[in-house]
Amino acid sequence: MKYDVVIIGAGAAGFGCALHLGSANAKFDFAKDKKYLMLDDNKSDLNVGRYFNVAGIESGINGVDLLVKLKNQLKNFPSVELKVEKAIKIEKVGDEFIINSENGSYSANIVVLATGLHKFDIECNGVKVLDNSFVPKPNLIYLENKNNLILPNLYVAGLASGVPTMFACASGDGTKVACDILSNWAGKIVVVHDVKA
Ligand SMILES: Cc1cc2nc3c(=O)[nH]c(=O)nc-3n(C[C@H](O)[C@H](O)[C@H](O)COP(=O)(O)OP(=O)(O)OC[C@H]3O[C@@H](n4cnc5c(N)ncnc54)[C@H](O)[C@@H]3O)c2cc1C
Repeated sequence: MKYDVVIIGAGAAGFGCALHLGSANAKFDFAKDKKYLMLDDNKSDLNVGRYFNVAGIESGINGVDLLVKLKNQLKNFPSVELKVEKAIKIEKVGDEFIINSENGSYSANIVVLATGLHKFDIECNGVKVLDNSFVPKPNLIYLENKNNLILPNLYVAGLASGVPTMFACASGDGTKVACDILSNWAGKIVVVHDVKA
């Protein structure tokens, strides 16, 4: 199955990216037929955290409940599919990426790695895994990147890009990558805003 963007990781960063991309379909002609896939193996840090300090989020929410809210919010945007599958290999073939998971194979023009900071276990040429010295704990990683880009059309977002380990930083970084993708498609700066009726 062919997608415009495959996002690997459905944590704070993956949802930040997917919700913004999905919201563009109804707003812009250039985005109206775009299709997105999220692959996730359900190991987000949200599964173990509790959140009192995220702006705009119900204070004290359990991360598992926050994940449920994010998944429900995603249902507003039918251009985004979410599959619980572990990605194992990404290959560049011509202009496309082929993404192999444990359950299937997908192609995409663009891939966003929103895989968190614990490890990077996907076989993918050109990805350099570095020690994450931006965090206070040992044995954590990030992926070498320049302004979220690893290679042309291969992005990294969230803690995997080296942002501080806070929900809003990860989510915002995913949204920033979505802005970059939409802007590249449009050939000008694009954001998706709604105004009150
Ligand atoms: C105990 C704890 C408490 C916390 N408390 C707070 C807090 O109070 N306030 C705050 O702001 N932040 C807090 N955080 C931090 C916050 O949870 C993280 O900053 C945020 O979850 C990072 O988002 P992310 O998307 O970068 O990574 P994650 O949310 O970890 O998501 C990465 C996703 O990628 C998926 N993935 C990885 N590899 C693959 C693969 N090969 N195939 C498919 N999927 C893959 C994982 O399954 C995971 O779902 C806390 C974290 C922890 C651990």
